Amino acid sequence: MVHARTLRPEPEALLDLWSLNELKGVRRTGDMLEIAAAEPYTGIIASPDVQQHLPALAAAARTIGAAQIQNRGTLGGNLANASPAGDTLPVLLAYDAVVVTDRRSIAVDTFFTGYRKTALQSDELITAVRFPLGRQVAFRKVGTRAAQAISKVVMAVSRTPEGVRIAIGSVAEVPLRARGAEAALERNDVEGAIAAVADDIRPIDDVRSTAVYRRAVTQGVLRELLESVRT
Ligand SMILES: Cc1cc2nc3c(=O)[nH]c(=O)nc-3n(C[C@H](O)[C@H](O)[C@H](O)COP(=O)(O)OP(=O)(O)OC[C@H]3O[C@@H](n4cnc5c(N)ncnc54)[C@H](O)[C@@H]3O)c2cc1C
Repeated sequence: MVHARTLRPEPEALLDLWSLNELKGVRRTGDMLEIAAAEPYTGIIASPDVQQHLPALAAAARTIGAAQIQNRGTLGGNLANASPAGDTLPVLLAYDAVVVTDRRSIAVDTFFTGYRKTALQSDELITAVRFPLGRQVAFRKVGTRAAQAISKVVMAVSRTPEGVRIAIGSVAEVPLRARGAEAALERNDVEGAIAAVADDIRPIDDVRSTAVYRRAVTQGVLRELLESVRT
């Protein structure tokens, strides 16, 4: 809606998804939890299934804007908006979530293709996001305040049977996986991972922070989150 005011040419029409019941709700499907694309953050935070199985997603949703934004904002919008600072996006990457659209399933790892660009076709609708159950994920957002703050660094770390996933936002043109740090952890080299993550990211100076700060904070937050997912 913020962008809609400045789009030129002005859009001839806006499509309102809010009242489509098919795009609302949280449900179990086999060994996955599926969150419909237009379920607002408030519903995600209140869901007992999310609290039990995806506490890191509930934690991320609680940091988005403030109550007004949480009452209207959705996972579908956070994904399609594709801001590098989107707070749920590292969590989705750490869970290996799957983006379900009206025509296909897209691994979230391949969803972000460039600055505010996604794999979606222009007429493609996100209908849901699917999460695997039973994964331990830790989340941390670093912003200026507790509410109404765009992230300076936002990170989610998970431990999976295949290894550790490290996903970070606000440190590159897209939310990304820190592959170099993940590879160091395959060798059980925690200090190597902390060093490598500085090269995995491409932070910039902007109105919210500096590249130097973001690099240092990314390394500190990674150390903290690795501690909390230690088995
Ligand atoms: C004051 C304020 C504070 C904010 N704070 C934060 C914050 O702290 N963290 C954060 O991550 N974001 C924040 N945001 C950004 C925004 O609220 C979130 O990204 C939210 O998740 C967007 O969801 P929405 O449903 O409102 O999407 P909209 O804003 O309605 O849509 C965003 C884009 O996604 C597209 N879209 C929406 N749903 C779908 C769908 N199902 N399928 C395909 N395309 C779709 C729309 O066409 C549009 O291009 C903030 C915004 C404001 C105005």
